Amino acid sequence: MNNLTELLLDWYRQKGRNLPWRVKGGAHQNAYLVWVSEIMLQQTTVQTVCSYFNQWIQRFPDLKTLADASLDDVLHMWQGLGYYTRAKKMHECAKILVSQYNGHFPKNREELLKLPGIGPYTASSICAFAFNLPETVVDGNVVRVISRLKGITTEVDKKNIYEHAKKLTSFNHSADYASAIMDLGATVCRPQAPLCQSCPWNHACQAVALGIVEKIPQIKKIQKKKKNGAAFIIYDSQNRLFILKRSQKGLLFGLWELPWTDEGEKVPFDGLWIKKNETVKHVFTHVDLTLNLYETKVSCLNDFLEKGLFVQKDMLHVYAFSTLMKKILSKI
Ligand code: SF4
Repeated sequence: MNNLTELLLDWYRQKGRNLPWRVKGGAHQNAYLVWVSEIMLQQTTVQTVCSYFNQWIQRFPDLKTLADASLDDVLHMWQGLGYYTRAKKMHECAKILVSQYNGHFPKNREELLKLPGIGPYTASSICAFAFNLPETVVDGNVVRVISRLKGITTEVDKKNIYEHAKKLTSFNHSADYASAIMDLGATVCRPQAPLCQSCPWNHACQAVALGIVEKIPQIKKIQKKKKNGAAFIIYDSQNRLFILKRSQKGLLFGLWELPWTDEGEKVPFDGLWIKKNETVKHVFTHVDLTLNLYETKVSCLNDFLEKGLFVQKDMLHVYAFSTLMKKILSKI
């Protein structure tokens, strides 16, 4: 085994994080827990995931419970984590695993890749963390650590760092190694103010030798679009709020929402609308969205209102809303 790899594994045994979805000293044995944590951790911090993970596991302790749940229930448990497609695909995946794989994850990357919501990163993670198979797992932490270790000053991403990462991977201890390098990135080789004095790779680190630690990595920047639109607060004569279930395919499909648009401010039907003196801002992966709020009161139904329902405000918690909608509801 590479000396750097041994040093990192030693460091991990002493300093690695204890996380609810992890065991030290080998594979987890419960691929379901590994899978749930890996999907939740996409685009979400470890700190946020910890509380969601524990609640999720209480509600859906295994694949069968998840497969048998309604999509509404699954989305409700996912509320606030964002990127709701992840929850929908988990639900689909659980159903397939129960019906076609006898309730078990296949121990094989190619088979895993056939399942909904499991891409190359998640497949490698499940293989390494749950089955200790020889896989190299590369996330944002790994990109940063390896770029600094190798002193790479050009733009990097997960693909072009992979070969460097692979050479350091311990294929006999792939679960521990993957956890170790991620922990090193999260707790020592941090984006800002890295703790190089405490790093087991300090003596070999090119970024330290060149004095350019904080200039690395050069990550390719995503160009975000700015969009402006409006959200519509509609009350009936009993002061109940109008909500509808999103039927348009995409990120927020299946969630409840107030009517809204990201293309201009055209109201959904004629009436006496008041533009409120407030806006809601929300950042999606590729879009910075700003919504103006409009309010109206209706006394009878129309074609548009037939698509949803009016709900007492104190009953809104029963419905699954996206983070964007929660921001709007908090203004009401
Ligand atoms: S020495 Fe510093 S920059 Fe280099 S890998 Fe360790 S923490 Fe990162």
